[in-house]
Parts: sequence; structure tokens; C-alpha cells
Amino acid sequence: MSVGRAAPEPSREDLVDKLIISCATTGSWPTKAQNPALPTTEEEIAAAAVACREAGAAIVHVHVRDEAGRVTCDPNRYARVRALIEARGCDVIVNMSTGGGAGSTSDEERLAPVGIDPPPEIASFDCGSLNFGDRVFVNSPQFLRELAGRMARHGVLPEIECFEAGHVENARRLVEEGLLCPPFWFQFVLGVRGGAPATVKQLVHMVEMLPPGARWSVCAVGRGQLAMDVAAMAMGGHARTGFEDNLYYRKGELATSNAQLVARLARIAAEMNRPLATPDEARTMLGLAAGSSAATRGRQRAGATAAWDRW
Ligand code: ZN
Repeated sequence: MSVGRAAPEPSREDLVDKLIISCATTGSWPTKAQNPALPTTEEEIAAAAVACREAGAAIVHVHVRDEAGRVTCDPNRYARVRALIEARGCDVIVNMSTGGGAGSTSDEERLAPVGIDPPPEIASFDCGSLNFGDRVFVNSPQFLRELAGRMARHGVLPEIECFEAGHVENARRLVEEGLLCPPFWFQFVLGVRGGAPATVKQLVHMVEMLPPGARWSVCAVGRGQLAMDVAAMAMGGHARTGFEDNLYYRKGELATSNAQLVARLARIAAEMNRPLATPDEARTMLGLAAGSSAATRGRQRAGATAAWDRW
């Protein structure tokens, strides 16, 4: 006699996202003197992005530098990096920084990458102020409202960077004001001197504060990077690596490339049964339109944002 079959146990794959690996190739402050493999020219950054994609990254988070290697927000350099990546047939998602030099660039300069044509699929959104080492990284409420509005108008997905729990609360306030709309993509930046330390306890606390349905990733500075990435994988979150946050493979041993750090995460993810998201799979997960040109993707995201305004 048949008694009916119990519903099959959901597999881990049904419960947990494919893993989105981001690689932050350059950042504002690292130098070639600290690690000669740091990419700083547009050509080097694009080549690093392609290598990271081949190693398993779905997103590259990009900063650009001037001729002297100093951080700049020059929109033409951002556009050139993306063009070089696309010219190589690489489909990686390009996330452009609006962080500037954490205190050394004006708010207006920092907004520039959002306005390039076509706009970036993702840009960073530093969701509050903090001491940042010996600097002060100012992200005033006025700046955040302006940045959120411009991102929505241009169809750019904000990567909501939170350096401590108060920044998650700032994001929730902007959600209530209708300035940040789902789907939400958070990046927890842990271990900055002045922000939350890179501990599992801090990470769990901040994840618990997220608005419902938010996806999140973690990056941590220096030796915290690998441990926090593995914790995020275990928790169902996503992971960022790269030279912006850490120049070493292990204590006393410089990493040889950004892709080397991505490849390590890819190996660990395989052991942890977290298949890697391709760029198009990540686009689907983050509400970006897959398989279309960058220009079309931007417009589609803008249309989706208009719909969320009514949500
Ligand atoms: Zn950055």
C-alpha cells in the first residue's frame, strides 16, 4: 500500500546560493613597492580582472590610479578599464568604486563613475563615516542620499559597504526613505582600523541586522581576509578577496596575483559544496539583466528601479 512519498529533503544547493566571488584588484592605497604584482594601470587592472574571472570570480571591484599611481576617480579611466575587459571577451561584472581616496577626494569627484555611459552595473556605496587608519572617511547623510539617487537614476546596483553595525542601520534608514531598493547587495568590510573587527561574532551580528532577502558578502583586511571569507561561505554569504584588502598569500609570503587569491577561494568553495556563480548567474541573483550589453543592462536596471519605487 502506498502511503505517499514524503517530500524529498531539500539539497544544500536548494538552500544556499551559489558563491559569488568578488575580487578587489587594486584599491586606493596599496603600492607596487608593497607588492610588485599590484595592478595599477588600466591595462594591468583589466588583465587582472580577466585572470580573476578565469580563476572563478564573478565580480571585479575596480579602483583606478593616475600616472603617478595615486588614486583618482577619473571616469575616463574607469570606462577604459571596462572597455579593455570587454574587448577581451570577458563577461565579468565590473563594480566601480565611489570610495575615492577615503578622505583625499571630493564628494563630486567620487560621484563621477556613476555617470559614465553606459553606467557601471554595480558601484560601491560606503554607507557611513568612520576613522580609517589615520584618515577620516566621510560619507555624510547628504552625500549618501545624493549617491543613492544618482545610482537609482542611472540603474546602478549599489554595493552597500558596511564597516560597522551602525552602517547597516544607516542602510535600513535609507531603505525606509525609499532611497535604497531591493534586491539588496551588502559588502561587510571588516578589520579596518576604526571599523568593526574581523570576527565571526561581528559578522553574525551585522548579518542579523540586514533587511529581509538581502544578499551579502564579506571582505576583511589583511590576515582576517581568508578566515572571514571561509566564515561567509559557511554562513551562506559571499566572499571578496584581492589586493585592495590584503597583499599576502600567507604570513610573510606576498601573493603573486589577485587571481592566486581567487583560485584559493574557488578550491575551498569546492570542498565546502558551494558551486561558483558565473557572472551571468550572479547577475540573475542580484537583479541585473544577464546576457545583454552593458548599455542595455543599465537601462533594464533603471526600469526595475522605477518598479521598486512603487513597491
Ligand atoms: Zn574599494
